[in-house]
Amino acid sequence: MKKIQDYRFLVQLLCLILTAVSFSISFKFTSLLILTLTFFTGVFYCGWVCPFGFIQDSFGYIGSAFGIKKRKIPKFLHRILKFSRYLILMLLLLNWSDFIFTALQFDPRVNFLSLVSGNTVIIISILVLVFFSLVSIFFQRPFCNYLCVQGAKYGLISLFRVFTIKRDADKCVNCKKCEQVCPMHIDITNTGNLRDPNCINCFQCINSCPVEKTLSFGRVKLSRPKKIHFSKVIVLLTLALSLFLYYSSSISHASGNNGQTITAEKVDGIADVDIAIGIKDGSYEGSSKGYKGTVKVEVTVKNEIIQNIDIISHEDDAVWFNRAKNTVLGEIIKSQNTDVDTVAGATYSSVGIINAVSNAVKTGTQ
Ligand code: SF4
Ligand code: SF4
Repeated sequence: MKKIQDYRFLVQLLCLILTAVSFSISFKFTSLLILTLTFFTGVFYCGWVCPFGFIQDSFGYIGSAFGIKKRKIPKFLHRILKFSRYLILMLLLLNWSDFIFTALQFDPRVNFLSLVSGNTVIIISILVLVFFSLVSIFFQRPFCNYLCVQGAKYGLISLFRVFTIKRDADKCVNCKKCEQVCPMHIDITNTGNLRDPNCINCFQCINSCPVEKTLSFGRVKLSRPKKIHFSKVIVLLTLALSLFLYYSSSISHASGNNGQTITAEKVDGIADVDIAIGIKDGSYEGSSKGYKGTVKVEVTVKNEIIQNIDIISHEDDAVWFNRAKNTVLGEIIKSQNTDVDTVAGATYSSVGIINAVSNAVKTGTQ
C-alpha cells in the first residue's frame, strides 16, 4: 500500500496525457465503465482520473515542497459548505436558475479539459482556473470540495457502494492522522464503513495510519445504523430527486425529438437574410462536435427557407444540450442564419448545433 500514491500520481498523469492527445475509446463505453466502477467501488474518477483533480493535487505537492502547510477550513463551516456542490447540481438539474448556467461557463474543470484538448477558452475562465490552482497550494482540492458538479454527481452515485474504506474501531488509536491528510476533510474516525459521497478513494488516509490494517479498502460490512444522520437524509433526497430529473430529461432525449423539433411555423418573424438561398427543396444532414461527442442534425429546406431543424442524435448531457437546443434552433430559423449567439452555460453544445446546421446547409449547396 505504501507505493499507492506513486501509482495514483502516474495514473493521473497518464489520464492527463490521454486527454491532451484526445485519446478516446468510445464515450458511451467509458461513461458506462466509470459509472459502474463508481456505483460499486466509489469515486475513483476524482482521485485517479480527473485532470483538474490532478492539477489541484500537483499544486498542493508544489506547496508542500516549499514547506507550505495545508490549511483547513473550520469544521463547522465545512459541514455546511460541503453541501454546496449538491445544491448547485440540484439547481442545475431543476433548471431553476439561469445564474447557475452562466456561472458554470467558468467551471475550471470543464475549461481545463477544453484547454488541454486544444480548444480556446475565454480569459476569465483561465483566470478562474489559475485561481483555483493557486488556492490548492494552501487548501487541498478547493474546487472538488465545494463546487464541482461532476464530483457531486459521482458522489451521489457512489452512496451505496459495496467496496469502500473501512476502519477497524478496535485497532484505531484515534490519533486522527488520517483526517489530517484527507483532502476532502472527511470525519473518518466517526464511522466503520466510510461511504461518504465526498470520498475520492485517494487512499491517503490508509497510507497515513500508524496502526497497520486499521484502515483498509474492502467489502462493506452491513450493520443496522444506530442513528439516522440528517446530512445523509439530505444527500439521499437530493440523489432521488436529481436522478429522477436527470433520467426523465435523458428519457425525453432518448425517445427522439419529443415534439421539440423547431419548425418555421413556430417561429415569429423570419428574417430576409438567409443561408438557404439557392438550395433545392429537401432535407440535408450535417454533423459537428458538441461538448462530449458528435451532434447530428437534419435541416429541411423549402422555397429557399429553412423550415425545420431536427436533432438526429447527440452525446452531450441532456440538461445542457436541451438548454442550447431550445434557444439556438429557434434563433437559426428566425434569422435564417447560423450567425447566432451561443447559450450561456451551454456554449459547446450551442457551437455543436450551429456548426452541424451550417454543415448540413453546405451539403445542399454542393
Ligand atoms: S470533484 Fe470534480 S474537479 Fe474534483 S476530481 Fe472530481 S470531477 Fe474532478
Ligand atoms: S477518506 Fe481517505 S480515501 Fe477518502 S478522500 Fe479522505 S483520505 Fe482519501
